[in-house]
Amino acid sequence: MTSSTPAQLYVIALGSNRRGRHGAPEAEVRAALAAIGGVMRASPIIATAPLGPSRRRFANAAALIKTREEPPELLARIKVIERSFGRRRGRRWDSRVIDLDIILWSGGAWSDPGLTIPHPQFRRRGFVLQPLNAIVPDWRDPLSGRTVRQLAAQLVQGE
Ligand code: AMP
Repeated sequence: MTSSTPAQLYVIALGSNRRGRHGAPEAEVRAALAAIGGVMRASPIIATAPLGPSRRRFANAAALIKTREEPPELLARIKVIERSFGRRRGRRWDSRVIDLDIILWSGGAWSDPGLTIPHPQFRRRGFVLQPLNAIVPDWRDPLSGRTVRQLAAQLVQGE
C-alpha cells in the first residue's frame, strides 16, 4: 500500500447472539470493534429479538471506520475476525459469536460475486438502521437516494 492510497470510510454492522471467549454478546461486539480498529464513531449496543428460528437475542451495533483498504480487502479481514471469534458457518440461522457486514462505503456502490455494497438487506432491517441512525443519519444511500434518517423513519412507519 502506498501513502497515496486514499482513506476510505465504511459503515459496518455488528451482531452477536452467542457467548464467546470475551463473554456475553455485548462483550463480543465490543471486542470486535477493537479488533476491526480505525473506529471513528460507534453506536450504542442494542438488544434485538431473534431472527428466524433462533431463540437467542442479538446484541447489535454499527461503527463508522476509516481504513485504506479497498472493499474486498476489508471483507477478507472481517471474515478472518469472524472466524477467529468462533463463528460456525453454513447454517443460516445458527447462533454466532460475531457477524460483521459492510453496509455502506464512501466510494458508493460495489458489486462483485462475493460482495455487494450497500448491503442488499440493510434498508429493511431495523436492527441495522437504528444503530446506523445513531452514527451516520445524514449518509445518503447511493441506490435509493434516501438518507439513513429517512430510511429508518420509513421502516418504523411501515412504508
Ligand atoms: P452472512 O453469513 O449471511 O453474513 O453472509 C456472509 C457472506 O455474504 C460473505 O461470505 C460475503 O461474501 C457475502 N457478502 C456479500 N455482501 C456482503 C457485505 N456487504 N458485507 C458482508 N458480507 C457480504
